[in-house]
Amino acid sequence: MTLTVRAPAKINLHLGVGAVRPDGFHPLATVYQAVGLYDDVTVADAPEWTVSVRGADHVALPEVPHDSSNIAIRAGLALAAHHGLRRTARIEIYKGIPVAGGLAGGSADAAATLVALDRLWSLHTPDEDLLAIAGSLGSDVPFALLGGSATGHGHGEIVAPLADGGAWWWVVVGSSAGLSTPAVYRHFDQLGGAVEEPEIPSALVTALRTGDVELLAASLGNDLQAPALDLRPDLRRTFADGLAAGALATLLSGSGPTVLLLCRNGDHAREVAGGMVERGHDRCWPAPAPVAGAHPIRY
Ligand code: ATP
Repeated sequence: MTLTVRAPAKINLHLGVGAVRPDGFHPLATVYQAVGLYDDVTVADAPEWTVSVRGADHVALPEVPHDSSNIAIRAGLALAAHHGLRRTARIEIYKGIPVAGGLAGGSADAAATLVALDRLWSLHTPDEDLLAIAGSLGSDVPFALLGGSATGHGHGEIVAPLADGGAWWWVVVGSSAGLSTPAVYRHFDQLGGAVEEPEIPSALVTALRTGDVELLAASLGNDLQAPALDLRPDLRRTFADGLAAGALATLLSGSGPTVLLLCRNGDHAREVAGGMVERGHDRCWPAPAPVAGAHPIRY
C-alpha cells in the first residue's frame, strides 16, 4: 500500500525578528500564509529508510540530500520513536517548491511525511502530539501541518490559526542563486536596532479578516528584507520590475531570495507574471492563498 500527502509552501506576510538572545535565538512574531506551490510525499512500508527525490524543472534537486539528513527521514524517525515503533518506510518526494528559497519546502516535506506515515501505520497521533513532533523538527514544520493563515511565535513553531476572509493571489518570483539563512540573520544582527519583543501589526490582522487587498498591500513587512537586500542588491531590480509589471506590493519571502508580488486576483497575477517574464524573470509562478496544510491526496 502507498499513500501520498501534499503540503504547501509558506510565505511570511509579516516577519518581525527580535534582538538576538544570549543563546543565539531570535524571537519571532510572524504571520504565515500557505500558498499554492506544493511538494507531494509518497510513503510505503520498506525494510529500511530510503528517500528519493524527483521534481519540477525549476527545482534544484541536487541540493536535496538523499540520506538520513533529509528532513523527511528525520520526520519518519521522530514519529516512529514517539510511538516506540521500529518500523521503516520508503519516502518518495516530488518537489514543486523551489529549494532554499525561503518557502520552507523541506518543512513541507517533513509535515507531509508525518501525516502520510501516521495514516499508513494507522497511528491516530493526536494533533497536539503531531504539532509537538513537527516543532522539534524545524520552526516552520508546524505551520506546514496547519496551512491556511496563522500567527507564529517563539522560533515560529508556536502557531495559531488566523481568520482569513480573502482569496489572495501572489506571483512567486524565484531566484537562480541561493541566499544563506544564517548569513541573513548574521547581517540582521550587524545592522542592529532590533526590538526585544517583535509584534504582529493589527492592520495586517484586519486586512486578512476583511479581505481588504489595499490594506494588506500597506501592512506587509519583513525585518529580514533590508539585510537580505544588502547581501543581494540585485533583488532590488526584481522588486522594481514587480511594481512596473503592476503588482500592488512587493515582499521578500522569509530570508529570501524568493520575491513575492501581491496581485488583485488570478487574472491579474497571470498578467503580472507575464510582465515579469518579459522583464527577464523566467521563474515566476502565480499562486493562490491561503491553501490547506498537509493533506492526503492519494491512497
Ligand atoms: P530554511 O529557511 O529553513 O533554510 P528554505 O525554505 O529556504 O528553508 P528548503 O527548501 O527548506 O529552504 O531547504 C533548505 C536546505 O535543507 C536545503 O538546502 C537542503 O540542503 C536541506 N534539506 C533537507 N531535506 C530537504 C528536503 N526534503 N527538501 C529540501 N531541502 C532539504
